[in-house]
Amino acid sequence: MERAPENKYKVTIGLEIHAELKTRTKMFCDSKNDPDEERPNVNICPVCMGYPGTLPVINKEAVKHVLKMGVAVGGEIADFTEFDRKNYFYPDIPKGYQISQYKFPLVKGGELNGVKLTRIHLEEDTARSTHHGNYSLIDFNRAGVPLMELVTEPVIHSVKDASAFAKELQLLLQYLGAGEANMEKGEMRVEANISVSDTDDFGTKVEVKNLNSFKAVEKAIEYEVARHIEVIEKGEKVVQETRGWDEVKEVTFSQRTKEDSHDYRYFPDPDLPKLRLSQIPEFAEDVLKTELPELPWNKRNRYIEVVGVKGENAEVFVRDNVWGKYFDAVLQALSGNAQIAANYITSDLAGLVKNDTSVKDTGSIDIFSKVAVSDFARLMEMISENLVSSRGAKDILKRLYDGEKDPEKIAKDGGLLQTSDTSVLEEVIGKVISENPNVVADYKNGKEAALQFLVGQGMKLSKGSANPEVLKSELIRKISG
Ligand code: ADP
Ligand code: MG
Repeated sequence: MERAPENKYKVTIGLEIHAELKTRTKMFCDSKNDPDEERPNVNICPVCMGYPGTLPVINKEAVKHVLKMGVAVGGEIADFTEFDRKNYFYPDIPKGYQISQYKFPLVKGGELNGVKLTRIHLEEDTARSTHHGNYSLIDFNRAGVPLMELVTEPVIHSVKDASAFAKELQLLLQYLGAGEANMEKGEMRVEANISVSDTDDFGTKVEVKNLNSFKAVEKAIEYEVARHIEVIEKGEKVVQETRGWDEVKEVTFSQRTKEDSHDYRYFPDPDLPKLRLSQIPEFAEDVLKTELPELPWNKRNRYIEVVGVKGENAEVFVRDNVWGKYFDAVLQALSGNAQIAANYITSDLAGLVKNDTSVKDTGSIDIFSKVAVSDFARLMEMISENLVSSRGAKDILKRLYDGEKDPEKIAKDGGLLQTSDTSVLEEVIGKVISENPNVVADYKNGKEAALQFLVGQGMKLSKGSANPEVLKSELIRKISG
C-alpha cells in the first residue's frame, strides 16, 4: 500500500532493557552484589568465577523483584519457570554460558506506559571488561549479579514514546526498590530494535546496543531512522545486524550480523531446580500485590485527578521522592489550596535548596527539619487568607529555611502582615488621594492605568502591609463615592 507523503515511512521500535537488581548477594552465589565496589575482583567466589564442580543456588530476593515487577505491569506470572544455559564464548562469561531464561520466563505479557510487553525474565550479568590499547582487563565483581531483562513488543512508533517508556521503567524499578537503574552507571542498559517501512509490513530490524543514557537512546534511534530512510531511498536494502552507538561521534556503527537464537544452544540448566511458582506461598500473586507501593502512574493520577495540581508539578512529586514525600505531608496538614503549596514547593522551596551551597542534592538534605511541615502549611494558609502578599510569603519562607520558626510570628515581627482592615487603610487612602489629584482626575476620566499607580503609591505608603486587592477596591469606592 502506498503511504501518504507526509507519513511515507512507518517507524517501529521494540526495546530490550536490562536492569541490575538490588539484592544483598549475587544471582546464584553468596558473593556480595555491590555496584559501588571500586576495587576489582573482590566480590567473587568459585561459583561466579565459573570453577568446575561448583553449584548455583537461586537468589529468592531477585526472583521476587521480577515477580513484583510482573504484578505491577499486569503481566502473567508463570506457574512453571526454569533457567536455561545460553552458550557462547567471551572472556567476561567464565563458565562458557550465561544462565538466563528462554522458554519459560518468570513473566509474560503486561503493559507499561501504553506499551505491550513480551516478557520479563531473570539472568546473570557478565563481568566488566575494559580495553587499554594492547591489553584488556576484566573485573568479575559484576559477574553473576542478578539482571532483569524486559522485552517489549514492536509497538513503539516514535522516539519520544521509546524514551518515555524507558524513563517510566526506571521509575518503576526505583519505586519497587528493585534497582537504582542509573543508566550512567550501567545499572540499566537499553537496546533498541528499529525498523522503517514504506509498506504495511515491518521493515528489516536493526538492533542498537550499549545505550547508556536517555539521550543516547533518543539520538541513536533518530540516527538509525534517518539511516534506514536513506538506504531505502537509494533503492538498497537495510541489512539485519547489531550496531553499536558511538557516544562521541553520535553515530551507530556495524558490530556484527545478528546470530539466531539456535546459535546459543539453549537448554535447561541441569544444576538448578525448576520452579512451580504457584506452590511457593510468598510468590502468590495476591501476596505480592499487597507488597507493592503506590505505583508511579497511580501517584501521578492521584496528584492530578484527586489533589488537583498541574501535571508539571505532579511530575516533580512523582519523580523526586524527597519532594513527593514532603508534598504528601503538607497535604495532610493543609486545609486549603494544594496548588499554591505545589507552586511554593516546586519553585520557591526547591529554589532555596538549589541555591544552598551546603546542599549537594535534594536526597542529602532533610527538608522536613529545614522547614517544618506545619510551618509550611500555615504559611500556605496565610497566603490563601490574604494575610501575606506573595512577596512577603517568599521572605517568610526564606527565613523559615534559615532556621526561624512560626510564620505568623515572623510576619508580625517583620511587618509583613497585610492588612485588610479598612479603618487602618483609611489614612493611607486619604493621603494617596490628596497627594495625587492629577492622577485621580485621570482615573475619573477613564484612564484605567492611573488606578494601578494609585495602588502602587498606597502599597508604598503602607510599607507593603496593605492587601493590594482591598486597597484597590477601597480606592475605587472613595474616588467614585
Ligand atoms: P530476535 O529473535 O531477533 O531476538 P525478537 O522477535 O525476539 O527478535 O525481538 C527482539 C526485539 O525486537 C523485541 O523488542 C521486539 O519488539 C523487537 N522487534 C521485533 N521485530 C521488530 C521490527 N520489525 N521492528 C522493530 N523492532 C522489532
Ligand atoms: Mg530475542
